[in-house]
Amino acid sequence: MNRKSSLLSYRETVLRAGAWLSQNGFFGTRLGTGGNVSLRIGDTETLAVTPTSKRYDELSTDDICIVDFNETQLSGTYPPSIEIAMHIAVYRNRPDVRAIVHTHQNYASVFSVINRPVPALFEEVSLKIGPRIDIVDFAPAGSVELANQVAEKLRNGARGYIIQNHGALALGCTMEEALLNTELMEKACRIYYLALLTGNPITDLPPEQP
Ligand SMILES: [Zn+2]
Repeated sequence: MNRKSSLLSYRETVLRAGAWLSQNGFFGTRLGTGGNVSLRIGDTETLAVTPTSKRYDELSTDDICIVDFNETQLSGTYPPSIEIAMHIAVYRNRPDVRAIVHTHQNYASVFSVINRPVPALFEEVSLKIGPRIDIVDFAPAGSVELANQVAEKLRNGARGYIIQNHGALALGCTMEEALLNTELMEKACRIYYLALLTGNPITDLPPEQP
């Protein structure tokens, strides 16, 4: 496969992921342009990422940006997502991560505004994401400060985070995994929210055995 056609497959994967997330309400709105998706291109210091301020249902593969780790745009019709620094910070600090999904999904957003971490609650969540979905402290969207705070939090090795007063961040070694982790995070947040509403004690998973 030559480089051009292989880049096309990365762009198609990002495009499809963005469309699926949008259609399923993970960006908080279906007509808005919030959230962003990226995929690292092999072992290179480049990534395919959604453009800024464009509706997901209006994008084509040519609109998916190719950007290097210095934030230099190599191709794509529009500028990349304003969260490009956050995506690059994740890839630089977590070589296990190959795909990133940043959403404004509803139930994770609830915990982003009450500033409360979410326990994994179920083994499927714990195995894929980690024992807890932690909160990354607030910093303005697109800021270097936010990228630095995400990089700091990534050291816990988890594959899902909530960004205070903002949204969610799911990581995966493939796009399919990042999408699944996005869903699992929303499930954990939804069930935790509903369980809290019952007022009953909530059972957690036993701590991991050494
Ligand atoms: Zn956002």
